[in-house]
Amino acid sequence: MMKTPFHVMLIPTLGCPARCSYCWSSEPGSPVMTIDTVNDVVEWLREFREDERVTFTFHGGEPLLAGADYYRQALPLLAGGLSHLQPQFALQSNLWLMTPELANILTEYHIPVGSSIDGPEEICDSQRGTGYFRKTMEGFGIARAHGVDVRFICTFTARSVKRKEEIFDFFLRNGFTMKLHPALPSLKSNEPGQWALDPAEYGELLVYLLDQYLIHLGEIEIMNINDLFRCVFTRHGSVCTFVDCVGSTFAIGPDGDIFPCYRFIGMPEYCYGNVSDRPSFDEIRKTAAWERMYRFTKNVDTACKTCAHIRYCRGGCPYNAIVANGGPDRGVDCNCTAYKRIFDEMTDRLNREMFEGPAMEMAPFEKAGRKPMKPGIMALMQTIASR
Ligand code: SF4
Ligand code: SF4
Ligand code: SF4
Repeated sequence: MMKTPFHVMLIPTLGCPARCSYCWSSEPGSPVMTIDTVNDVVEWLREFREDERVTFTFHGGEPLLAGADYYRQALPLLAGGLSHLQPQFALQSNLWLMTPELANILTEYHIPVGSSIDGPEEICDSQRGTGYFRKTMEGFGIARAHGVDVRFICTFTARSVKRKEEIFDFFLRNGFTMKLHPALPSLKSNEPGQWALDPAEYGELLVYLLDQYLIHLGEIEIMNINDLFRCVFTRHGSVCTFVDCVGSTFAIGPDGDIFPCYRFIGMPEYCYGNVSDRPSFDEIRKTAAWERMYRFTKNVDTACKTCAHIRYCRGGCPYNAIVANGGPDRGVDCNCTAYKRIFDEMTDRLNREMFEGPAMEMAPFEKAGRKPMKPGIMALMQTIASR
């Protein structure tokens, strides 16, 4: 069985200068992780798991709030102290606080950035707040000028999904790689369901994007479609949502508390301990938090038993399941309907093309009297393989 890569999310702070309407991951007044805590992370991980590699993602809140000095100290500590794990780094940021100095540090350590833009300025600002788009684009300009690799995550909400064509077109025109997120019900909002994307609509959105991707193959990259197709084709999950993430992903909050993922930060019943205590893997496995997470994993084997996609879906994201169902063993990821829809669609197309013939389908439109063709789903394989 393929081993799930070891991933550690570092949350330098939960603070963020933005105020996105659907945000559930920032916390005003949050402290910033000290360098002592970074040292504790290094000591804790030295002999934690037998791995050849680790990826650290700086997440938030807004991780750039920690400032250039923080990264100047933290990165050599992590890279040097854990050199046997060949650390790789990534950073998730809205880019508002990007400076040439920070951009140089990111380039020096080959740190790609995942940023967030929800489509054209008007759509983006209507759900993230006035000025968001401009500030992110200014930061993007600095990052790009210094050679930082930036990709954009696009959050689709109940509102913005109605304008999916404009959003897709925006990414296509700007040459941005697209990664999408469905808005989740926010536990911190007064109206938790207001922005959340309905799972059935999310499924249709994925099918729409699959079609658009095939029409525009070579012009744009949609990471989720690549990942979903890789799942179906290799029959193995290729991103955290579609593997058993428990035990291979951890998140460290600003105060050194250890959680299964950044999404659980602030939920004490899911805290595995603190890096200053250097808990071993075995000690973590004995915590009540681990037991709760493991209940999710066990429940998947029963709840998804008859699903054709269980092998590479694994019940989806435990956080989505736990929050939506009010506990770890009461159901699977609330986006199950969406996953089933796109996995079924991909499997059907793949089977049709493999067993029934050539990989070209009619595009769903006619232009200038001729019917343009769009590639079938097998063409995605070449695209993924060529990357
Ligand atoms: S940029 Fe991200 S962390 Fe900050 S408020 Fe918006 S969604 Fe929340
Ligand atoms: S809890 Fe969800 S988002 Fe977090 S690592 Fe697991 S699958 Fe990924
Ligand atoms: S698609 Fe739904 S039923 Fe199937 S494995 Fe995923 S979560 Fe379970």
